[in-house]
Amino acid sequence: MQETSISPTVDFDQDGIQHGFLKLPHSDDTSAWGSVMIPITIVKNGEGPTALLTGGNHGDEYEGITALLKLANTINTSDIKGRIIIVPAMNFPAVANGSRTSPIDRGNLNRSFPGRSDGPITEKIADYFSRYLVPMCDYALDIHSGGKTLDFLPFAAVHRLNNAAQQQQSIAAMKAFGAPVNMMILEMDATSLYDTIVEAAGKIFVTTELGGGGTTTPETMAIADRGVRNFLIHAGILQAELEPTPTVQFMDMPEENCYVTSEDEGILEMRKNLGEDVSEGETIAFVHAFKKTGVPPVRYTASRSGMLVCRHHPAKIAIGDTLAVIAEKVEAC
Ligand code: ZN
Repeated sequence: MQETSISPTVDFDQDGIQHGFLKLPHSDDTSAWGSVMIPITIVKNGEGPTALLTGGNHGDEYEGITALLKLANTINTSDIKGRIIIVPAMNFPAVANGSRTSPIDRGNLNRSFPGRSDGPITEKIADYFSRYLVPMCDYALDIHSGGKTLDFLPFAAVHRLNNAAQQQQSIAAMKAFGAPVNMMILEMDATSLYDTIVEAAGKIFVTTELGGGGTTTPETMAIADRGVRNFLIHAGILQAELEPTPTVQFMDMPEENCYVTSEDEGILEMRKNLGEDVSEGETIAFVHAFKKTGVPPVRYTASRSGMLVCRHHPAKIAIGDTLAVIAEKVEAC
């Protein structure tokens, strides 16, 4: 594997706070010798653990982007021990474009890991994280939301891991984050996720889904801001008291039938709200054909009993879209 073409303008070993860029050369019609400049902040104070905090892995998921921009503006070196690496806009071209994927190569960063140093631009970003940033960290927090096409009941999540100690520590970090729901998440396809390479590297990793629809709310931002601080306090980096969190519900996604997939194109009419309990076989939505009148709607039912934790956000829905996700309430993760 050749060396990366990305060069940081910050020094990862220097004490203090530095705002800079990961500079990724990119030549196009607007700039022959141009670069994509991915913002990065390093805060370091002596020896201690390192946390890698990321947002904008998908460019239209705003809680992480916003919370990390705020953190970079407000954190003081004297507040911490160790090091924080803050990247609010991992897939910067996507964030700048307000889209899930990169407008340059249509790359979905969170389906591009571990990446390639000589691949398309999104794979180059993935490769830099895989081989340079992730190895530097002890703790990693990657803040996702639903983006323009999904909406979530806000939750923090970990995956099932083979390493029991790593699993315990990840669950402890998730609990410290303090989202209203803690989820043992089952991915539709984990093969090329950032999550998978961070966990394989043995790091303590927490991810989130904090809302959606391509915006934020005061409630989801409060969860994100508190969660970022609590995560850093839990890691022993931010020297402060954990903020108490509201009642937490533990949830599990034990099987693939948690996902309800649309098999129709049409107009989605949800009959259940996020956070509502559903019973197996109960109506959760109708999909209405719109290309002619007089066609009965298709009824969608709950694939299992549990709680509605995710829904397709726009009313327009297509075959293959995730219509809903139903998770199971459990006593503990
Ligand atoms: Zn995402």
